Amino acid sequence: MHWLMVTVSFLLQLTALVLAADFVSGFFHWLEDAYGHPDTPLLGPLIVRPNIVHHHQPRRFLRHGWWHSSWDLLCIALLVVLGAYWLGCLTWHVWVFALLTANVNQFHKWAHRTRAENGPLISLLHDLRLLQTARHHARHHTDPKNVAYCVLTNALNPCLDRLRFWDTLEHVIWKLTGLRRRADTSVNGQGPAPEWLRAEITN
Ligand SMILES: [Zn+2]
Ligand SMILES: [Zn+2]
Repeated sequence: MHWLMVTVSFLLQLTALVLAADFVSGFFHWLEDAYGHPDTPLLGPLIVRPNIVHHHQPRRFLRHGWWHSSWDLLCIALLVVLGAYWLGCLTWHVWVFALLTANVNQFHKWAHRTRAENGPLISLLHDLRLLQTARHHARHHTDPKNVAYCVLTNALNPCLDRLRFWDTLEHVIWKLTGLRRRADTSVNGQGPAPEWLRAEITN
């Protein structure tokens, strides 16, 4: 029975890593959506503006290749790997976590593509619910666009949203700092879109 224990233990650890990567992706996505400002030096043009564009035109980022959408995540993932190496804890868990988080934008793209665009293999991963499906991710792009921030699986969002996890975090931040979440100009009634965005989505 030893092999069975080893297999079960491996699968449990893998599941925990996928859920951890899913949560981390959701946390940073929530930070961008709720508090990211398009005029922040460096982070504004690098991360926040593309994120705002994505809310206005969800399929627009599909025109970008893997490198364009993932180089920043790859850099962060490499820093995690280097940090773990430096601390002497570079196990396979760190590699899997880094691999998943570096590709989170790619998984997100797949949730915006049609089955024909994704092909049989990725469609199978969606059918098996190993990756987040288009129908599930569509909830994030439905007004008021403040749920389903995690983009890796279908598993975590229902739990976090039922617990009102993100709402509670925003409430705590508001109570502690007086800071409110940013208006989402892609949501009905929260516009108009800023000038820089109109220039960006017309070209
Ligand atoms: Zn979003
Ligand atoms: Zn999306």
